[in-house]
Amino acid sequence: MIPQEKVYSTDVSPYTQSSVSARVEALFLNNLGKVVTRQQIIRVATNPLTGKEPENWHQRLSELRTDKGYTILSKRDWALLTPEEYVMPHAERRAAAGRRVMPSTACWQAVLVRANNRCEWSEDGQRCNLAPGDKDHVGGGTVKLTADHMVPHSTNPATDPDDMSKWQALCGRHQVMKKNYWDSSSGKINVMGILQAVNERQKLEALDFLTNYFGHKPK
Ligand SMILES: [Zn+2]
Repeated sequence: MIPQEKVYSTDVSPYTQSSVSARVEALFLNNLGKVVTRQQIIRVATNPLTGKEPENWHQRLSELRTDKGYTILSKRDWALLTPEEYVMPHAERRAAAGRRVMPSTACWQAVLVRANNRCEWSEDGQRCNLAPGDKDHVGGGTVKLTADHMVPHSTNPATDPDDMSKWQALCGRHQVMKKNYWDSSSGKINVMGILQAVNERQKLEALDFLTNYFGHKPK
């Protein structure tokens, strides 16, 4: 997914689409696999008629990822990028990105009954069992249970709002943990998600661990 080498876009063409989002999207699609800089994004985000520079281009960028399902690499994903550089490696979009399905009220009530009104997260056979109003001594704060769709949203979520077997009650800490670090399709820890999320020092520690583990150092 990460390009072989860093190639900078030299795009200076005009972008006349009517919305900031459409202009930024077109910029990335015209420069697949190339490094697009913050300056280039701001240039096309700027209203071509009024010359007004939008303050919220960063928000539009994140919507291309979350709502439209595009892959846009940043320094977090590729160490060679600076914090002001981005790459869309290909034009494929994750199916059903951004579509958020919720259980019906009756279904959620049935889930809470099954859950005995406690967090249903289970790890090594140990249930979390935190209840609403409890103090979470690990994550801090007061527990609130919310609905978690157990299978990835791309697999036909439309039929699930009334099916209690597709939902579980989770505390806030476990919602975050599952979202970021748990691959619900395989039931395994999302190691790559964790490595992407941690800071550079932690990435280097992981690299050090792996090179020791495999008995050689990379060039
Ligand atoms: Zn929990």
